[in-house]
Amino acid sequence: MNKVHNFSAGPAILPQEAIEAGKEALTNFANTGLSILEVSHRSRQYVAVMDEARALVKKLWNLNDDYEVMYLHGGASTQFLMVAYNLLNTKACYIDTGVWSSKSIKEAGLFGEVDIIASSKDKNYTYIPKDYIIPTDADYLHITSNNTIYGSQMHKFPETALPLVCDMSSDIFSRKIDANQFDIMYAGAQKNLGPAGATLVVVKKDVLGKVSRQIPSMMDYKIHMSKGSMFNTPPAFPVYVVLQTLKWIDKTGIETIENRNRAKADLLYNEIDTNESFVGAVAKEDRSYMNATFLLNDDSQNEAFLNACQEANISGIKGHRSVGGFRASMYNALELDSVQALVNVMQTFK
Ligand SMILES: *Cc1c(COP(=O)(O)O)cnc(C)c1O
Repeated sequence: MNKVHNFSAGPAILPQEAIEAGKEALTNFANTGLSILEVSHRSRQYVAVMDEARALVKKLWNLNDDYEVMYLHGGASTQFLMVAYNLLNTKACYIDTGVWSSKSIKEAGLFGEVDIIASSKDKNYTYIPKDYIIPTDADYLHITSNNTIYGSQMHKFPETALPLVCDMSSDIFSRKIDANQFDIMYAGAQKNLGPAGATLVVVKKDVLGKVSRQIPSMMDYKIHMSKGSMFNTPPAFPVYVVLQTLKWIDKTGIETIENRNRAKADLLYNEIDTNESFVGAVAKEDRSYMNATFLLNDDSQNEAFLNACQEANISGIKGHRSVGGFRASMYNALELDSVQALVNVMQTFK
C-alpha cells in the first residue's frame, strides 16, 4: 500500500515504533505470553509500565519530586472540571483562545467566579491576546497552549505569581519549554502522545489542599497521586502506547523534534504565503507549529482541492466545521515528506 499522509487533528499520527510495540503487546506483553488486554494492572509487568511512563515525563521535562505525574481517564475535557474542583476556591482567571478554552471556562463556572482576563473571540480566535492584566487575587490562571481548531499557538507564556494551569493537549512535547513555570499541565493523549483513552496530568503538589469543598474520590488529584494512578483500573493499553511514544521522544530528543516541527511548519506556511490561491487563517506571529489552518481564496474550489489531496494520498486535511477551509495537523510523528506532498498538491492546484 502507498504511504498515506496523515494530517488528522486527533486521534492522530503516532510514531510507527509505538504502533509496532503496541501490536506486539497485544499478543505477547512483556514476554508473559498474554495480551496486555488480559493481564492485571497490578501485575509486576504492568506496574513497571506505569512507573516508567510516569518517570519519563519527569525526565523529559526536568521536573523534581515537587511534581506528580498521573494517567487518568476522561480526556482533557474531564480536566476542565477537575482543575476547578481541586483548585477553585473563589475566583479563577482564564484566557479564552478558542473552543477548548471556552469549554474549560464553562466547567469552572460551576465551582466559582471565572474572570476571563483576555479573549480573541472578537475575531473568531484568529490571534492570541497579548495585552491583559493578570489579577493577583485569583486561585489560578488557566491557558491553552495550542488551539487545535483555529491553528494558533502561544509562543510566549504569561508571567504570573498565580498557579499556572495549561491545557497542552495538542502541542505537548512538540517543543522545548520550561515546564517548571507551570503548576498543572494536562493533555488528552490522542493528539501527540498515544491512543485516545489516557490523559496525562502533571501536578505540582503544593497547589492542592487549598479548597474547602469535599471532592469525590475520582475527581481528587490527591487520591490518584497517592495510588500511583491506580486508584481504579487505569487505561492500561493506551498508557502502554504512550510509554512507547515517550521513549521515542526521549531517544530522538525534544530539540530535534522541535527543529523538525519548525521545518515542517515553515515549509507549509511558506507555500501558503507565496501561493496566491491560498491564504492563512491566523495572525502570522501566532501561527501554530502543530495545526496550520488555511483557506482557498476561491472557496468554490474547496471540493476540488480536497479531491486533489485525496488522489495524492493526503488524509485529514478538511478544516474544522467552525472555521472551514483546511487544517494540516503536523504532530511530532508526521514526516517532512508528507508536508512536501501537500505542498506539491497546492502548487499543482495553483
Ligand atoms: C482535543 C482537545 C481537547 C479535548 O480532548 P478530549 O481528550 O477529547 O477531552 C481539549 N483541549 C485541546 C487543546 C484539544 O486539542
